[in-house]
Amino acid sequence: KLTFDELMRHWAEEKPDTVALEQDGNALTFSELELRSRKIVAMLGAHGVAKGDRIAWLGKNARHYFELFYSAARLGAVMVPIGWRLAAPEIAYILGDTGAKVLFIDNGFDELAAKACGQMESAPEVVDTPSALAEIEAAAPADFDPAGPDDAILQLYTSGTTGNPKGAVLTNANLFSLRVPAEEAAQPWSSWDDDEAILVCMPCAHIGGTGLGIMAMAAGIRAIVQAEFTPDGVLDGFEQGITRLFIVPAALQMVIQHPRAKDTDMSGVKYVMYGAAPIPLDLLREAVQTIPDAGFLQCYGMTETTGTIAMLPPEDHSLEGNQRMKSAGKAVPGAELKVVGEDGEELPRGEVGELICKSPSNMAGYWNLPEATSSSLIDGWMHTGDAAYMDEDGYVFIQDRIKDMIISGGENVYPAQVESAIYGHPAVAEVAVVGVPDDTWGEAVKACVVPKLGSEVDPADIIAFTRERLAGFKVPKTVDVIEVMPRNASGKILRRELRAPYWEGRD
Ligand code: ATP
Ligand code: MG
Repeated sequence: KLTFDELMRHWAEEKPDTVALEQDGNALTFSELELRSRKIVAMLGAHGVAKGDRIAWLGKNARHYFELFYSAARLGAVMVPIGWRLAAPEIAYILGDTGAKVLFIDNGFDELAAKACGQMESAPEVVDTPSALAEIEAAAPADFDPAGPDDAILQLYTSGTTGNPKGAVLTNANLFSLRVPAEEAAQPWSSWDDDEAILVCMPCAHIGGTGLGIMAMAAGIRAIVQAEFTPDGVLDGFEQGITRLFIVPAALQMVIQHPRAKDTDMSGVKYVMYGAAPIPLDLLREAVQTIPDAGFLQCYGMTETTGTIAMLPPEDHSLEGNQRMKSAGKAVPGAELKVVGEDGEELPRGEVGELICKSPSNMAGYWNLPEATSSSLIDGWMHTGDAAYMDEDGYVFIQDRIKDMIISGGENVYPAQVESAIYGHPAVAEVAVVGVPDDTWGEAVKACVVPKLGSEVDPADIIAFTRERLAGFKVPKTVDVIEVMPRNASGKILRRELRAPYWEGRD
């Protein structure tokens, strides 16, 4: 089954009484969801939304969001979830770029929506979602021609870590076609028990949030939606019976270091999936020790590949001197990975180059950006922009983003490696490494450090600490002590913001 329409009808028949979506105790079963979604399709029609049109969502994570998305997907209208932390001009930009017909908003977003729409030449119709969905109860379900596998149904913007966010257009098949090879490979985590539940706490404007709803729909299991990530919410989720969790490393750290973590029963959690950004090894070890009954799965992927294309399986998370734990894993069944040089030639194992991926989950293209599409999606291979090497067994080791690589005195320095060394320092809570201009070396390595609560960081000490662990050219020349680490809504560190002041007028 490769479409939302097929999956929703299938689960409504197979598991009519299984809860599909739940938020704050309000639950909707697969059969209720199926019926409601046909009414929602009718409501969309009443607002002039047809196949191929775009609709947008502005709100936190919500059961309503997933209902709208799934229903629009059955019809073949394209959902564009917009990050609720964005400012009005950014929202106006995305709405204008997509040409969305209707903007669905959640409670509390009317002012922001009005402000964004006020800045547009032709603004979408704004619909208050809770009232629109309250009215459908009595409505008649629509008859419609369902969208096929190759129809676009989701447009997700990249996180904007390295530049402006780009709209990745995803089809039904992009979302669901890795499911079959995963099932055929019969890995323990690719089969689901009927009573499983997954927690959706990462923002739905990103693949790490919406992707979990897709995963739950593919597996026919319960998705518990939380409006936003809080460590308390995740700990509550453990107590409410979630069996799988996906969070980014920064969030995982908050969960395991929360005072309540020690007293929370985490034994029901089968798998903890983490990814979207590099994870410091010490944090990963601590997490494995804190949630000992769970299998850990590192997920590597991008918006453009509909999320995970490489996975580090639980057996590679053993705590005894395991080099594999530094890997982002190997290609998931159905996806192919290669490391290539500047001319696109495949590099020998162990050599660092650009990681590229061929997968049925690769996006159809970037919205309105034909040049970016043709330069990154070449003959079906998505060029990730990440520097990596692959070992003899196909495990990939992500070095860093190619754009963030520092060239200091002719040597390549990958910030992530330096950060990983500095994370071992007991006074360091967070660190980001960037290249700053240097008259002798071209670029010099700089570390920006947030000290742990109650600790003080001495720059000379950090430099000495790193010198003992890394080659001289990788050791920071300077260290800035900062109060807050700039991050985007995906939890990724914005190195470009840390770099910017040093490069003003030069780059
Ligand atoms: P933009 O493309 O707008 O700069 P972004 O690349 O951060 O933003 P996403 O699509 O959300 O947007 O993130 C994909 C990127 O996240 C990957 O290219 C990679 O750099 C990073 N990433 C994802 N998973 C992992 C992982 N497990 N380990 C390290 N890095 C990861
Ligand atoms: Mg990217």
